Amino acid sequence: MLPTTGTKNRQFRLKTRPSGRASLENFELVSESIPEPGQNDVLVRTVYLSLDPTNRIWMSDMDQYMPPVKIGEVMRGLGIGKVEKSNHPNFKEGDYVSGLVGWQDYVVSGVDDVFPLVKLPPLPISLEAMAGAAGMTGLTAYFGLFDVGQPKDQETLVVSAAAGAVGSVVAQLGKLSNLRVVGIAGGSAKCDWLRSELGLDAAVDYKSPSWKKDFEKATPNGVDINFENVGGEIMEAVYSRMNLHGRMVLCGLISCYNDADDIKTRLSLAPALMKRLRIQGFIITDYVARFPEATEKIVRWIAEGKLKHKETVVEGLENAPGALNMLFDGSNLGKLLVKVSEP
Ligand code: NDP
Repeated sequence: MLPTTGTKNRQFRLKTRPSGRASLENFELVSESIPEPGQNDVLVRTVYLSLDPTNRIWMSDMDQYMPPVKIGEVMRGLGIGKVEKSNHPNFKEGDYVSGLVGWQDYVVSGVDDVFPLVKLPPLPISLEAMAGAAGMTGLTAYFGLFDVGQPKDQETLVVSAAAGAVGSVVAQLGKLSNLRVVGIAGGSAKCDWLRSELGLDAAVDYKSPSWKKDFEKATPNGVDINFENVGGEIMEAVYSRMNLHGRMVLCGLISCYNDADDIKTRLSLAPALMKRLRIQGFIITDYVARFPEATEKIVRWIAEGKLKHKETVVEGLENAPGALNMLFDGSNLGKLLVKVSEP
């Protein structure tokens, strides 16, 4: 049963910065009146909140690609919401929007905000898919693979955290591009899903004691593209099998996000020199201008059944802080969402 919304605005505000995993103690839950939109503003009710590994990064004060969330601020979070009141000519009550809704029931947003909410047109796919495979997650997969990875026919692509939100889309885009795709994921159930549902050529369970040998067997011709989501030992194993002129797409290093530093990855640079590797980090916000082009393709592939989408949905805003750690336990399959209210 979803908690009642409609009378108050509950907000999770950052109280303290976590050391190690985030927990409920790092947040203050406050309940306020629902804000009134000002001139040119819209009032949006959060429907789906996206939980992302970067939420944990935003909670820390490490050097990062956006300013960290300040102590006392509403926790930053992406999501999809529905317009409840509009004082702006481009939005009307009932429109769906996506963007930075925050960990709260309602947000007032202006079109002049640094990251204004974007109106979603009527779409042939579900809102869950819009919040995941066709949202920021799918866009990350698309630009990371095609722009940074620059795949060529029949190359070998290795994806870590392959059964997660970004990974599962990268892996499928790889298959659509005629690559040999090898996924790395935790547990046999996820690996079975990657092979049987998503059609990967091989999936390696990094929790198995034999995973390094299994990985060698799964990549008999080495690795041309590494789509890296994890870092640490997994990245090292893939790095050691990179081919001449290979590309390492540094998308994320989730194994390091709960640590004070990222000493878990120690790579010697000599192989990068000898094999002329390209190791490139990227952040999806660099591609904002090209979002429409990629969204149009991803939505079409989903609608045509060429790209499958999977969501793990947790009910209730109050469960957001606890659910964040599902990303670090690996208890999500596909995109992790919190359903805050009914669409
Ligand atoms: P996922 O849905 O993939 O969830 C995270 C997954 O990571 C878990 O399900 C778990 O899967 C795996 N994982 C967690 N901890 C570890 C660990 N210590 N070792 C191995 N695997 C681990 O999350 P997203 O798809 O949202 O994000 C994936 C990556 O992409 C993250 O690193 C994220 O920061 C990055 N990202 C980067 C963006 C960019 O612009 N560069 C944008 C969006 C995401 P398992 O059960 O297999 O262990």
